[in-house]
Order: sequence, then C-alpha cells, then structure tokens
Amino acid sequence: MLDLSDRVAIVTGAGRGIGKATALTLAETGANVVVADVAEERDGTVAEVEEVGQQALSVEMDVTDRDAVERAAEETREEFGRIDVLVNNAGIFPTYELGEMTIEQWQRVIDVNLTGAFNCTQAVLPAMRAQEYGRIVNISSVSGGQIGWAGNLSHYAASKGGMVGFTRSAAIALAPDGITMNAILPGMIDTGAAERVSNQEQIDAAISMTPVGRQGEPEEIGFLVAALSSEHAGFVTGATLVADGGITLV
Ligand code: NAD
Repeated sequence: MLDLSDRVAIVTGAGRGIGKATALTLAETGANVVVADVAEERDGTVAEVEEVGQQALSVEMDVTDRDAVERAAEETREEFGRIDVLVNNAGIFPTYELGEMTIEQWQRVIDVNLTGAFNCTQAVLPAMRAQEYGRIVNISSVSGGQIGWAGNLSHYAASKGGMVGFTRSAAIALAPDGITMNAILPGMIDTGAAERVSNQEQIDAAISMTPVGRQGEPEEIGFLVAALSSEHAGFVTGATLVADGGITLV
C-alpha cells in the first residue's frame, strides 16, 4: 500500500535526526530523495539512500535563503523531472530566557522554522501545480500549542504554532491543484533534541508522564510522513497529526 515508486521527494534538514529517518523511509517505499541541509552530514544520508537502491541528490541549502531554495527546486526538476513531495523538516531550537532574548534570536528561529517552510513551499508550487499533484508535510511540534515544554522556548513554540496555522490555511488554497498539506506534531523524539533543551530530570519526568513510556523513534515520524505522502492520502489535508506517545492526553 505504501508505494512511492517513481515519486521524487525533497526533505529539508535531512542530514540527521527526523529528516534523515524520513529520507530513508521515503527511499524504502520507492521514492528518489533530495537531501537538503546546511550541514555536510547530508552526504551521509545520500549514501544511505543509495544503499537502499534509490537515487539521491545532496543539496546544500539554508531554508531561509530564497535563492538557494529556488536553485534546489530547479536542480530537482533538472535531475528528476518532477517534485511530488516536500517535507518541511528543517528546524532549530536554541533556548533563550524570554526577558533576555534578542530580536535577532527570536527572528532567526521564526525565519528557519516558519518562513523556511513558506520559502520551500513557494519554490515547489510551480512543479506541483503543473503536475496537478503534490504532497507537503510540515514537521511542527506538540509544543506549538498542545503542551508547554519547560521554559525558554517561546520563540520555538510560536514558530511551530505558526506552522499549524500555515498548514490549515494553505491546505485550502492548494486543494484545487491536487496538492495536500498536512502537519505532523511530534512529541519527544530520540534525536538528542530533548538533551539539548532540557536536563535529564526533565526528560525522565516527561517520559514518566508519557503513556507509552518512552521517547519516539525518528523512524516512527518517517513512517507517518511516508503515509501522508502516498497517493492514497489524497483526502487528508490540513490535518494536524499528533505523534507523541500520548503525552498530550494526560
Ligand atoms: P536535528 O537538530 O537533529 O536535525 C535538524 C536538521 O535540520 C539538521 O540536520 C540541521 O543541519 C538542519 N537545519 C537546521 N537549520 C537549517 C536551515 N536553516 N536550513 C536547512 N537545514 C537546516 O533536529 P530533529 O530532532 O531531527 O528535529 C527535526 C524537526 O522536527 C525540527 O523541525 C524540530 O523542531 C521538529 N521536532 C523535533 C522533535 C524532537 O523531539 N526531536 C519534537 C518535535 C518537533
């Protein structure tokens, strides 16, 4: 059922973590993958996608750089002839105390996490509209509205909540063109992210409050992206899919 054969996917922030796992899951279901990241680790993901037997393209791209994003879309069309899937995954989560956060620190997080998704979406639209087909999946977060995560992440929460609003409104605009846009809201996923924003005591407390009793695996998010990227998911758009082991239920 999950068959993305001959589909072409761009995954931002695919050098590591959720983006990398998503790139590999998409490849395992048959897609060719453009691995877009600022970090050189993207070449490692490319090698692993090729090991799966799919084609991969490494693209150095900062999602805030509109020229670079445009070039990446162009390169994708030149290499593969189409763009079927965009996964807006690139994100940053530096912690700043609210009263001390500079406007530049606030703005950078909004630029990468929220405006980056807008930039990439705009860049793939001509191809998707011409094909009358597209699947866009935004990686938001439960901390964008469902849950507070310690302090010092108000800028991040604003960016991820903004992504949900963007998803729901853009989905309406894109539907007539055969393009869906959905958001996945992960809880704590084991990429080392929790360790960067919290101490061990906070992590243990969050796990103890999580009904499934563990962090999620990046591959579990990759699987959901693949499902929303499949042709059969055409009736699902503007949805916000929470994948958090149940922590927001309690
Ligand atoms: P990560 O830090 O492991 O990976 C993020 C990747 O994005 C890195 O490869 C990085 O180089 C890349 N990146 C950063 N800024 C970029 C930019 N400007 N342009 C292009 N690439 C850029 O993070 P992760 O844990 O895998 O998280 C991935 C996404 O999932 C993020 O958007 C994050 O907010 C979201 N998320 C993560 C968790 C979690 O617990 N890990 C939970 C909820 C949401």
